[in-house]
Parts: sequence; structure tokens; C-alpha cells
Amino acid sequence: MGGNLDVLHQRALDVPMQVVPWRLLNERGIQLILRRDDLIDPHQSGNKFYKLFYNLQAASQSGVGQLLSFGGTYSNHLYALAAAGHAAGIRTVGVVRGERPANLSPTLKDAEAWGMQLCFISRAEYRAGAEALRGRLRDAYGDFLLVPEGGANLDGARGAAVIGWAIAASLENEFDAVCVPCGTGSTLAGIASALPAGKPAIGFSVLKGAGNLGRDIAQVHQACLSLRSHLLLSYPDVASGAPWRLINGYHAGGYARKLPPMLVRFWRDFEAETGIFLDPVYSLKMFWGMAQLAAQGYWKPGTRLVAVHTGGLQGRRGFPAPSV
Ligand SMILES: *Cc1c(COP(=O)(O)O)cnc(C)c1O
Repeated sequence: MGGNLDVLHQRALDVPMQVVPWRLLNERGIQLILRRDDLIDPHQSGNKFYKLFYNLQAASQSGVGQLLSFGGTYSNHLYALAAAGHAAGIRTVGVVRGERPANLSPTLKDAEAWGMQLCFISRAEYRAGAEALRGRLRDAYGDFLLVPEGGANLDGARGAAVIGWAIAASLENEFDAVCVPCGTGSTLAGIASALPAGKPAIGFSVLKGAGNLGRDIAQVHQACLSLRSHLLLSYPDVASGAPWRLINGYHAGGYARKLPPMLVRFWRDFEAETGIFLDPVYSLKMFWGMAQLAAQGYWKPGTRLVAVHTGGLQGRRGFPAPSV
């Protein structure tokens, strides 16, 4: 793997991986190795650091110097984009659905403080999609590179692939599968493309009604595999990357919905037992799904699972704390 690692690969290797005792897996003979990508950066936490890295690089190398993207009131993606742009000297525009509220959410307040220009648009316009708005946004903000909501483009997935690469590089064969929460699924697709064959990546969807998610993931996974041969870095010697699976049953009502009391209890118990904080929209649902699958005998005793903590803890500010 030599001396030609870029900053992203370096940073990824420095992320702690820790064996975390957790009764619900351990009593079934399953080991949990937690990859603490929530610690990779204080503000661009978790998978968004990876998904934005090559997008930022494209903005500076192309000379455009500005990234525009989309998100909601508590968007981890806009938050990370604002912080990343601030750190890298790239201008950022965040397009948010709905009216500008009298009081901004803490997420958007921070984003604005980092210099992100916020543009509020109606829900109908938002639904019409990025391309329909492009001309108007260009008139208002000048030239920009457009990053889809959630950072879900190929540069995003290619960045996320570095998570898979770092897992394989640091654990070699000492793991059996990698678990990750899924929104757009580009993190799952990227990770799977960089894992050795036989070490599947398992995504837990937080969306109700996954629609075309599986098809989209398959496409991005393929695209990452074709890109990989052009990269300078040596990836594990596999032709096809790892298979991936999408688990759909644990969205608990859908994206960012109010949590059922049972899940709030699970959240509180997990944090009390492990000392690891979870975000309520993504990682909580992954761990909940992992506990359910383990209880159903989905994994054999002796299985070593890597779980990716994708961060997003700033989003806790939009939810009642689990301990109340
Ligand atoms: C955005 C996000 C995800 C989802 O990533 P995708 O690549 O869209 O699947 C998962 N976890 C956290 C904490 C996130 O902020």
C-alpha cells in the first residue's frame, strides 16, 4: 500500500477499531468490532467526511470553488458540507426544503456560521428535483458543482469505499462481515466494492419502502468496481469486490420519524452498556437490526462483525435525549 496514500486513506487508517462488549451479540457467540468513524472529524463526522472528500477535491481542482447541495433541517450532510467547505476554503450553498423558519435549527445555524449560504425553497420545487432548479440557482449563486442530497454521487461512494479499504487493510482476514446503516446506500455500495470477496457488507435501510434502493446500490457498486482499477492505490486482490445485502425491516416507521418507546429503551440501554453514543436516525437502527438478526440466528457463533459508526451525533439535537 506504499507511500502514495492520499489524505483520506491516511485518515481512514487512523480511525480506531475497538472490540465492544455487547450482551445481545456476545451471548450468541458473536463479536462486535466497532469502527469509530464518528471520531474522524468533530464536525464532518462519520461517513460524510468520506463522501465529501473527492467532491471537495473536484471543486478545487476544477477551479469552480463552490459546492451546492440539498438537505433537511437536521441534515448531517449539509452540516458536514458547511464545515468541510469552511475548512477547505470552498464556498457552499445549502438548499433546504420549506420556508426559512424564524428560528433556525442548531444544525443550520452552525452551517450558516461556517459560511454556508442557505436557500429555502418550497416543497414542490424541492420535489421537482435538482436539475429543474439548476438554472435559477446558478443565477443566484454563480457557478457551482452540484452534490446530490446525502452526497450520493460517484465521488461520494468512491470516498466511502475508503472505509472498506481501511477495514480490510487493518483487520486483514480477522472479520466476517461489515454492517453499515443505509440512507441512499452509497456508503454501503462503496464499502462493499473495497472489501475482499467473501466478506459481505450488510446495509440496514432507515427508509420505509426502499423503492429502487437495491437497484441504485447495485449500479453504484458496479461503478465503484470499474473505477477501482484506475486508482493508484492497491486494493485487495479481488475481481468483484464483496457481495452486499440490504436489510429492510428495521426502519422503525421511516426516516427521522418519532421513535417508538421500545426503540428509545433500546437506545438508552445500548448507550448505558457500551458507553457509545448513537444517532437516532441511522446508527441506532443499524444496531437494533443487528440485535434482531442475531436473536434470529442470522449469524453463526464465532462470527466477527465490524459495525461502522457513521457518526451524525449532531442530529441528536433534533430528538429528545434517550435518558429522559
Ligand atoms: C448520511 C448518513 C448515513 C447514510 O449514508 P448513505 O451513504 O446515504 O447510505 C448513515 N449514517 C449517518 C450518521 C449519516 O449521516
